[in-house]
Amino acid sequence: MAGATYPLEPIDVPQVETKNRKIVTKLPAPESIAVLEKLRETEPLSMSGQPPIVWDRAEGFHVYDRWGNKWLDFTSGVLVASAGHSRPEIAKALKDQVDSGLLHNYCFPSEIRSRLAAKLIECSPAELQKVFLLTTGAEATECCIKLAKTWGQKVGGADKNVFVSFEGAFHGRTLGAQLAGGIPGLKTWINPVDESFVQAPFPGSFRVEDQSFDGFLKVLAEKGVKPGQICGVMTETYQGGDAWFAPVDFVRDLRKWCDDNDVVLIFDEVQAGFGRTGTLFGYEHYGVEADLIACGKGISSSLPLSAVMGRQEILDQYGPGSMTSTHTGSPLCCAAALASLDIVLAENLSANAAEMEKPLQAGLAEIKAKYPDNIANVGGKGLVAALNMVKPGSLDPDPDAAFNIVWKCVQKGLLFFSPVGTQGSAVKISPPLIIDEEAITEGVGVIAEACDEVLG
Ligand code: PLP
Repeated sequence: MAGATYPLEPIDVPQVETKNRKIVTKLPAPESIAVLEKLRETEPLSMSGQPPIVWDRAEGFHVYDRWGNKWLDFTSGVLVASAGHSRPEIAKALKDQVDSGLLHNYCFPSEIRSRLAAKLIECSPAELQKVFLLTTGAEATECCIKLAKTWGQKVGGADKNVFVSFEGAFHGRTLGAQLAGGIPGLKTWINPVDESFVQAPFPGSFRVEDQSFDGFLKVLAEKGVKPGQICGVMTETYQGGDAWFAPVDFVRDLRKWCDDNDVVLIFDEVQAGFGRTGTLFGYEHYGVEADLIACGKGISSSLPLSAVMGRQEILDQYGPGSMTSTHTGSPLCCAAALASLDIVLAENLSANAAEMEKPLQAGLAEIKAKYPDNIANVGGKGLVAALNMVKPGSLDPDPDAAFNIVWKCVQKGLLFFSPVGTQGSAVKISPPLIIDEEAITEGVGVIAEACDEVLG
């Protein structure tokens, strides 16, 4: 439920012990209450939105607390730990970097940053010729907005400044990222409205009737936007909250239209990048080239690092010293990212994600077949999926059902983050990419049990 918080009163839950899960206390664990209360006292309310599990350590695809409980992780810590939690190779790379004596170097050159930049370019599609390292996903999407707007001015003058994105999109929580975002509830504080940011319905949503590219052009025309005014279009490769992909033909038409109108096409790969969807970069599913991509999360499987990658002429628009960030390519973050990338490539985790999609989607399809009135859609590819919960007999989002399923699963030792997507109605599945079929099957079985208890 969007905005819901979890009770801190420990409740009796069935005890569980399997290879992947162990629940031996009440939940929240009674001894964890002091920590949870301290956090509620000292942090903003917004930080109390996740299930009340106090992480002590996380390894591979398991998360542990200090009181004997163990969860099978279907979150990757919100799509970060793609190579698995606390991979020894990443920990060693970090220790080696600490021992090397270089913890920070601002934008001064470093060998490790040059190795990471070269590696990212080497493993990515040919049109991504340059890489700018940053710290967070929002910083990367903001940078893409800036680059597209700057490009627009350069090729079309001051009027070519309209930035188009999609309803329901999430690009981060900073100002520019939220202007481009398509979740109205997150933007109420932005006043006055910046009319140079425009959103169109997302054609991958089952709630959008006209999913054609003509429909997209029609909406822009209705909003009074002419193609010549548009500098950039940004879309999440799949719309993150609900795990929806856009129709392939739509994206191909969009690519052609961007070429014809000198519009920068940007894929927000913050969730999709580095193997999550079964290809190294998610936008490869559409068979098009990107002008820019924003990466983050799974790039390092651990420390905060993000990247903007793209065409040389777009990334080179700012002169020396005029597009930087203090922690650009922090040596520790670079060490983590290099080690994580090595794992993702050497272990071919994209292929594992593609392989694991089969049992995951088959299991979720069975659950949907049992509850067709409650689950309108199962989205996703590779190792990302979501159950879109609706109120029976309608397509109205059902955040309560999603919340109850998530909380039940957590009580049974299957870790989820709180529901996301349309009004918080999606139960989102995104385990580390190293997960195996046995664990997928076990996790899907737990979701089925939870659905029986909540919906049955
Ligand atoms: N873009 C997408 C698709 C995301 O899912 C997120 C975060 O969830 C962001 C951007 C923002 O990333 P960060 O939270 O690192 O700023």
